[in-house]
Amino acid sequence: MKVAITGRANVGKSTLFNRLAGKRLAIVDDTPGVTRDRREAPARLQDLSFTVIDTAGFEGADEETLQGRMWRQMSEAIDDADVFLFVVDARAGVTPLDEMLADNIRRHGKPVVLIANKAEGRLGDLASMEAYALGLGDPVAFSAEHGEGMSDLRDALAEAFESVPDRGEDAPEASDPNKPIHVAIVGRPNVGKSTLLNRIIGEERMLTGPEAGLTRDAIAVDFAAGAGEQRFRLVDTAGLRKRARVVEALEKASTGDTIRALKFAEAVIVVLDALQPFEKQDLSILDLVVREGRAVVIALNKWDLVEEPDQTIRAAREAATRLVPQAAGVRVVPVSALSGRGIDKLLATVAEAVGKWSTRISTGRLNRWLEGATTRHPPPAVAGRRIRIRYMTQAKSRPPTFIAFCSRPDALPAAYQRYLINSIRETFDLPGVPIRLTLRKGENPYA
Ligand code: GDP
Repeated sequence: MKVAITGRANVGKSTLFNRLAGKRLAIVDDTPGVTRDRREAPARLQDLSFTVIDTAGFEGADEETLQGRMWRQMSEAIDDADVFLFVVDARAGVTPLDEMLADNIRRHGKPVVLIANKAEGRLGDLASMEAYALGLGDPVAFSAEHGEGMSDLRDALAEAFESVPDRGEDAPEASDPNKPIHVAIVGRPNVGKSTLLNRIIGEERMLTGPEAGLTRDAIAVDFAAGAGEQRFRLVDTAGLRKRARVVEALEKASTGDTIRALKFAEAVIVVLDALQPFEKQDLSILDLVVREGRAVVIALNKWDLVEEPDQTIRAAREAATRLVPQAAGVRVVPVSALSGRGIDKLLATVAEAVGKWSTRISTGRLNRWLEGATTRHPPPAVAGRRIRIRYMTQAKSRPPTFIAFCSRPDALPAAYQRYLINSIRETFDLPGVPIRLTLRKGENPYA
């Protein structure tokens, strides 16, 4: 694994590099831009071994523009690294340059560990909270100077290593229109998954043939569809393509397929049989997909057999809202895998769902909404004191993940959390998107 340390100048990258490499390799100086050139060294952190890459500060006295240097530094590291350590200075707080760099890093879809460095003592809490707003997940409160936070960093790194894609597999990335959306088709046996898959592959413009590659069990097919030539990569588990004609424990087999397919997918098409929709097994598959936080679209298949289309689609949409409240408003698209009807609409809906799933809401908008939502419907009181939710920020997208800082996170009822989630979904137009909400104890760092 190659781990690149990035961040603006003077946040403590070189000190961290030295900690990890265990040597005084980098020149440390308080003058911005003193660290030059990129260095690589073998590194250890407890049980983890990896290669650490230090990237040069880009505030040096160079003739290029700041933007140009930033870009070069980033692109070099990006090509090489499997995982990024993104360092911010907890004492200085988050600066516009941090935000710019974080934005850049996020776009590349590689795992990032966010480090709030110089977080000695209590000061760390506030600054780490601010760091959430960078949208790079949970910050690790750290002190490279004093070696505090090493265990937390170890855990965060180990987790990041886990999510590094196997070689040959692209990291899912949809914010770039030229990169394919990774789609999986799941559903219980006999709803028409294989038929749908073959129909899609047969009709849409193939970019590359079916090729073995992702794992022993899965193949991927790239194609483009729709007016905008949106690219897709359909991930197909072996179970779908070559169906074993043996009597098997069907329920079990299909759950296994679902889980395997989910691993590679950003968006998931859950296929239901229009004549028998929302059976128990359909619901557990939907629940699994939503819990995994994927963008989800329901394909109501075998539409050619439906006799009362208007009534059927209305009933299905109503059932989806009632039975899948975790992704309220999930899109239901009637299709016939047999005739090909509705497939274009289905793929367009998938692209749209991925767009919503990738939404980022600014901290400002979010907190204006929070104020309204908590005024309209205040949180309950415990032991005579009203629970206060002081501040909220989006920590991640894909799926949208929010952190709310409140006075009694342990006591905020699940019903109230659902109220907040549903209100976010409505206000920011995120139908069908699984929304995650984490509660933290804390104050508003900006108050
Ligand atoms: P899978 O187990 O989900 O992969 O389901 P299959 O694709 O093998 O389809 C199960 C059965 O449903 C087959 O007999 C298909 O021909 C049939 N089927 C699939 N899609 C449609 C459809 O849109 N309309 C109709 N009438 N039959 C379909």
